[in-house]
Amino acid sequence: MIIANEPINEKKLANATAIITNLQNELYNFIASGSGPFLAAIYDESGKLIAKCANSVINECCSHNHAEMNVIKAAEKALNSYDLSKFNLSLYVTAEPCMMCLGAIMWSGIKAVYYSVPSKRVEEITGFDEGFKPDWLEEFKRRSITVYGNICTELGEKVLVDYVQKGNTVYQPQR
Ligand SMILES: [Zn+2]
Repeated sequence: MIIANEPINEKKLANATAIITNLQNELYNFIASGSGPFLAAIYDESGKLIAKCANSVINECCSHNHAEMNVIKAAEKALNSYDLSKFNLSLYVTAEPCMMCLGAIMWSGIKAVYYSVPSKRVEEITGFDEGFKPDWLEEFKRRSITVYGNICTELGEKVLVDYVQKGNTVYQPQR
């Protein structure tokens, strides 16, 4: 079921559904070329794509290269600004952001987040640790960041199941 921190706007949801469906389908190619199993894109309010990046923890050997971190960095570079708030941007991502990426989103000035597979399902399917994020939808609302979640989860979960079944690396530090 779709969750959101504002009354659901069908137009925004339909737009996000189309974008996230494309990201889920494209993700197979990114995985095949060595990227991690998450893909994020940032669009402006006119629907123009600003940046799109996959997770590159393994292929770039960097633990914080999650898709959201990469795409925010790319958008800030493309727009030549560390504060994206004036551009009214939305971030679309194939899974719920982890605790690190929530911080990055908050400090980037992104205005809206649309995600597919919730963290609980990501953890169940893959074994990745998504961190602890109490009431983050409410915390984002307090900061005027709109959030819609659980968009196209069926397709999103399929990509993750496929990632695991093919024996790809579920990277994390030893505990
Ligand atoms: Zn993350």
